[in-house]
This record gives sequence, C-alpha cells and structure tokens, in this order.
Amino acid sequence: MTATILSGKVFATQFKEEAKKEILNIKQEYGVTPGLAVIIVGENPASKVYVRNKHKACEEIGIYSEVIEMPETTTKEELIRKIDELNFRKEIHGILVQLPLPKAIAQHEEEILNEINPFKDVDGFHPINVGKLVTGQEALIPCTPHGCLKMLEASNINIDGAHAVVIGRSNIVGKPMAHLLLSKNATVTICHSHTKNLKEICKSADIIVAAIGKPKFITADMIKPGATVIDVGINRIAPKKLVGDVDFENAVNVAGAITPVPGGVGLLTIAMLMQNTVTALKMQLANQYAL
Ligand code: NDP
Repeated sequence: MTATILSGKVFATQFKEEAKKEILNIKQEYGVTPGLAVIIVGENPASKVYVRNKHKACEEIGIYSEVIEMPETTTKEELIRKIDELNFRKEIHGILVQLPLPKAIAQHEEEILNEINPFKDVDGFHPINVGKLVTGQEALIPCTPHGCLKMLEASNINIDGAHAVVIGRSNIVGKPMAHLLLSKNATVTICHSHTKNLKEICKSADIIVAAIGKPKFITADMIKPGATVIDVGINRIAPKKLVGDVDFENAVNVAGAITPVPGGVGLLTIAMLMQNTVTALKMQLANQYAL
C-alpha cells in the first residue's frame, strides 16, 4: 500500500486563503492593511526568485509589499540603518532580510537580524521570538517548521504522545520544529551529525521530519511502516532536478503519509510568511506601543 501524499500545494492554498480572510476582517475592523518589507542585498539569483515569489504572494492576498534592493557593497551599518527605518514605519508590520547575505557582511548576520523589532520579525529568528517559542508564549514562529506543524494538524495526523524524530538541529528548521512538536505533546528526539544509531531511532518514529540537506539520506528501511514522513530538504542534484532528504520513491511504499519534493514543504514557507505578517500586525494592534 502506498502512503497518502501530503500535497504542499493544497495546504499552501488553504493557509493563504486563511490569511486572506483575516486580512479582510482586519481591514474592516481597524482600517489597516498589513505591510511586509523584504530587504535583498546583492545579486544572488535564487534569492531574487524567492523575493519575487514573496512579493507576488502578498499581492495575491492583499498584503502591501515593499521590496528593498540594496547593492552587493552594502555595509553592515547601512543595512542596520535601513532596518531601523522600517522598524519605525507604521505601515510596515513585517520585516524580512533575505538570506544569505553577501560574503562581506555574512559574518554579521546575527547582529543584523537582531536589529529587527521582534514584533515585526516575520521570519521568527530574533532571540526574543525564539525564547517565547521555547517558553510557550505567543511568538512569531519560523515559517518552514510552522508550516510543517500546521500541515500535520490539518491532515489529522496524531501528534499527542507520538514519537517524533527531527533530523537536523538548525535554528531555522530543526530546533523550532522540535519545540513545536513538543508543545503539541509529542515525545521528541532531535538527531544530528553526531547521533549514533540513527537508523534505529528513525525506525521507532511515528513522525519523521528530515531537515538535513543530503539527497535521499532517509531510506525506506529507516521508516516504521505507517509512519508520517515530512521532508524539508531541498537538494539540487542536476540543473533541473530537485530531490528531498528522503528517498521518496521507496519510502512512499512504507510510510503512512509523506510529503513529496518538489511540491511539498517548500510551498508552505511563503504561505506561512503571509500568515506571520498577519499575526505580526495583530500582535502590534494588541501592543500599540510597538507600532
Ligand atoms: P543546516 O545545514 O543548517 O542543518 C542541517 C542539519 O542536518 C544539521 O543539524 C546537521 O547536523 C544535520 N546533519 C547533517 N548530516 C547529518 C547526518 N549524516 N546525520 C544526521 N544529521 C545530519 O540546514 P537547514 O536546517 O537550513 O536546512 C536543511 C534542509 O532543508 C536543506 O536541504 C535546506 O535546503 C532545506 N530547507 C528548506 C526550506 C523550505 O522552504 N522547504 C527552508 C529551509 C531549509 P549538525 O548540526 O551536527 O551539523
């Protein structure tokens, strides 16, 4: 029997529709339109595509969107000044700095991201939002793991009491994913490159989230029959061929539910950015001092 395919397209459409409805309600009640500013520094072609897609999604659902293009030679100070400007602009409720930053300022990434007002931090990377997530307070949550959790919930996959194994411990995916699953009462194991007995650990999982960055690393023999497999990985193995961290072709015959790559988790990230922008606006409306 083959697994249920969890389609990113279906869920992304649903999550964007939810955001669109909320935007209409907020406009009616408060007369405010959510605004998102995306800063892109330099000429990275992949980043330009991502930023264009974010702008398009905003237009589709009624978010005011501003793309700020800064040259490759931008200094740390210039970028921080731009963030400060946006922190104080009332019509901008979400600020995102597209990563990666150019090499010359990449070492200052943490300092630069920490400059974003936590109420406008729609990527959820600011230590205040990280701390709130870990302590169970209302926070802006990183888009990709947040999308994975919402997809699990929308698919009625049982999380409470389930053994969830997250492979990867990055600040962007692995760690927030583990905390989100824990907040929903999963028993969570976090694995990384030093983990011993990875196969045995994976085999005992009811839910596997793979966020490794290694093509087809999770093979069918690592999956318990009927388990749910969420593949966050995006690996380009040929100019026009993307694969995930899971060997989908074989895993699909063992798992109970699985996300494909492409067409899975990747599509959820922008939808969750739209939701986060709405959440940011709502948090700011509730905390007028932060506007
Ligand atoms: P990172 O490189 O920051 O983290 C990778 C993690 O995988 C690390 O924690 C690393 O362990 C772990 N790892 C590496 N090798 C092994 C191994 N042999 N066994 C067990 N664990 C291992 O990547 P990201 O978290 O940023 O991204 C992960 C993947 O998700 C990438 O393919 C990326 O492209 C994709 N991605 C997709 C997004 C989307 O929108 N769908 C968004 C963000 C990322 P250690 O810490 O010990 O080094």
